[in-house]
Amino acid sequence: MTRFIFITGGVISSIGKGLASAALASLLQTRGFKVRLRKLDPYLNVDPGTMSPYQHGEVYVTDDGAETDLDLGHYERFTGIASRHSDNITTGRIYSKVIARERKGEYLGDTVQVIPHVTDAIKEFILSDIIDEDFVICEIGGTVGDIESLPFLEAIRQLGNELGHECTMFIHLTLLPYISSAGELKTKPTQHSVKELLSVGIQPDLLLCRSDRNLSEKERHKISLFCNVREEAVITGPDVDIIYKAPVSYHEQGFDDQVCKHFNLFNAPPAVLTSWNKIIERIQAPEGEVTIAIVGKYIKLLDSYKSLSEALQHGGIANNVKVRMNWIDSKIFENKESICGLENVHGILVPGGFGERGISGKIEAIKFAREHFIPYFGICFGMQMAVIEVARNLAGLINANSTEFGPCIEPVVGLITEWVCKNKLVCRTKESDLGGTMRLGAYNCKLLPKTKVAEIYGKEIISERHRHRYEVNICYRKHLEQAGIIFSGMSPDDTLPEIIELKNHPWFIGVQFHPELKSKPFDPHPLFASFIQATILKSRLI
Ligand code: GLN
Repeated sequence: MTRFIFITGGVISSIGKGLASAALASLLQTRGFKVRLRKLDPYLNVDPGTMSPYQHGEVYVTDDGAETDLDLGHYERFTGIASRHSDNITTGRIYSKVIARERKGEYLGDTVQVIPHVTDAIKEFILSDIIDEDFVICEIGGTVGDIESLPFLEAIRQLGNELGHECTMFIHLTLLPYISSAGELKTKPTQHSVKELLSVGIQPDLLLCRSDRNLSEKERHKISLFCNVREEAVITGPDVDIIYKAPVSYHEQGFDDQVCKHFNLFNAPPAVLTSWNKIIERIQAPEGEVTIAIVGKYIKLLDSYKSLSEALQHGGIANNVKVRMNWIDSKIFENKESICGLENVHGILVPGGFGERGISGKIEAIKFAREHFIPYFGICFGMQMAVIEVARNLAGLINANSTEFGPCIEPVVGLITEWVCKNKLVCRTKESDLGGTMRLGAYNCKLLPKTKVAEIYGKEIISERHRHRYEVNICYRKHLEQAGIIFSGMSPDDTLPEIIELKNHPWFIGVQFHPELKSKPFDPHPLFASFIQATILKSRLI
């Protein structure tokens, strides 16, 4: 029997619903249940793929090639379960589906309306693609009271009735601000937010109250009374300094016990927190520290690099060191003198990115890493920029560039117009739509034996997730090889360079994919573990 848990948020946005959902899923998993996590996003975009990172943060890509919300990254990191295309839906996708059906005449003359047609499409999505999961946790994006989220709330209300209380649970996350002049936590915003939910017919079964301190008995009693929620189901969600403490902290507050109680699962095995405790211990007691410069473009909103910062931390966990991240706007290095600041870092990383702004700064930082033997990790755009740097400065191709920035004389990086996906040829042109048309999702890559990456992965074939439109131009292979580049990873048909490394450098690797998307705290990605290991060696030399 599959049970559905719906998680809504009130009072403010960014209250931590994604983290709470992921932590609950992990706790239920350790109690022996099979879980699946889903995100319902009320915005009108079909997916976040075309949104600016400043609007939305990172776009998380799944194995099956969906561009999704960054919360799906939390879900995967906390549960180890690979998310699928069917785990993230937006209003845009729901409406596209409803309108396509209407055009086909599938509504048989009905007037198409939000209720029941849009809400039916939402319910269909929530119930789809479920195999034998014990729990499906559905996080509803946005804040209760937003106009956009109303059809989603109506759909989950209906499901609550249709599936019954024994199969559904409504959890509401709220904020309890501490007002120092009054010396108390204020419950009024929570009361209002629950009233808002009640006005659409949803009575929460559990309240997860985010606050910077534990709720007193008195406060829990008051919330219970005014919000009509059992007192023991009013749970404190204390702030945590390390996100991986969330499962342990929520467990201590009785979160998973109350969920099991709601579903009458009185004989459920207890939660096992050993692996989370080990991770926390490692993060809290590192044996050293390394500093990495991350030279990017979207550094004013670090959510744009969520999986990257987590993966670097996982690399630290694998090596028992703290990873200090220096986020640097690449524009700074356009003035070559300021490059000096990089002398004391132990590693340099250029992450994924789009567009011309700031590229010369990235290229300068890469040159610095190459010339000063500082470990360099180039991810997607960071690999493309590394190839351009080597082409310009070592291969004598002074006009080397990417066609992403317009027509150029030496297109060392160019638009990919054809590639093979699941044995089928995919074609693109410059005129193709921007949304959903990149090379997306997991692709196999062959590793060249006896290279650094072959040693790091310990395999011949790997699978990694992609999200890019441009690619290193294989026509320049000879020039680049003569300049010291090794094409150590290629697509199985040998047409697309997937990984490059540099000869005579302690650690200089560029990858066309996004390894950070697959790293987990309990299973750090081998490239990140190896990069951090190289930075430790560098730190001993400084
Ligand atoms: N802008 C580059 C491309 O589309 C790199 C993309 C990325 O870094 N994800 O190929």
